[in-house]
Amino acid sequence: MRQVIARPQTELRHENPCQLLVAVMLSAQCTDARVNQVTPALFAAFPTVEALAAAEPEDVLPYIRSVSYPNSKARHLVAAARRIRDAFGGEIPASLEALESLPGVGPKTARVVASVAFGVAALPVDTHVYRVAHRIGLVRRARTPLEVERRLKRQLPARDWGEAHHLLILHGRYTCTARRPHCERCVLTDLCDHYRRLRRLPAPLEGLDPRRGRYFCKRCRRYFDVPVPRTDRYGLEQLSCPECGSMHVFDAKTGRSTKRVPDYRVR
Ligand code: SF4
Repeated sequence: MRQVIARPQTELRHENPCQLLVAVMLSAQCTDARVNQVTPALFAAFPTVEALAAAEPEDVLPYIRSVSYPNSKARHLVAAARRIRDAFGGEIPASLEALESLPGVGPKTARVVASVAFGVAALPVDTHVYRVAHRIGLVRRARTPLEVERRLKRQLPARDWGEAHHLLILHGRYTCTARRPHCERCVLTDLCDHYRRLRRLPAPLEGLDPRRGRYFCKRCRRYFDVPVPRTDRYGLEQLSCPECGSMHVFDAKTGRSTKRVPDYRVR
């Protein structure tokens, strides 16, 4: 991943820890691209913690209306700024505990800010890290982001945690995407559990009767002679059942699946 991801760092634009904290708070359930669209005007209007702390949520709202949950985020931004002003002398705290004490700052936000702004060894787990870690098989059946974090930390040296966080995020954002992972351009196919499963063919069926039809559909348990070609989610043409459309089609003579599997390792 280091070889193909040249700059493993956050894509949220910021110039100081305060701007980073604001951007990370805004990025919850929202894309970094969207946050980057609104932050220049927001930072210009409220350039310091004090300026934000002196504002009311209604003053902030117009600047962040296009991000998700603008009302609660506006309230949290102002409340967090007031707490930073009153409890931390206007400086963004560096410790996880202090960051998590701020309104609207959960474990993930605190870890991102502590790691990116202050170099604290942390491995925040967002939706991309969670998905990619499971798909590759770095963790299996972890129930919560904190559990994923704990297990990843056991496998990686602390000096790599921050980098691993960014590598996994960027890999998930651009290659191992949620709906359809782009295994065809991924460098991890030799290591990845998901890819291994993708290439696994169903076991042959026994006892099929080729006199009843050339093909057999496992889903609706019918024989037929003329399959319907269909393109699967990976862009491969498959044979499908003319009755139910299923691609679980078997050759009645050999009992083997007609499924084609991708081989992206040949590049
Ligand atoms: S091989 Fe496919 S599923 Fe596995 S990490 Fe790469 S893109 Fe994701």
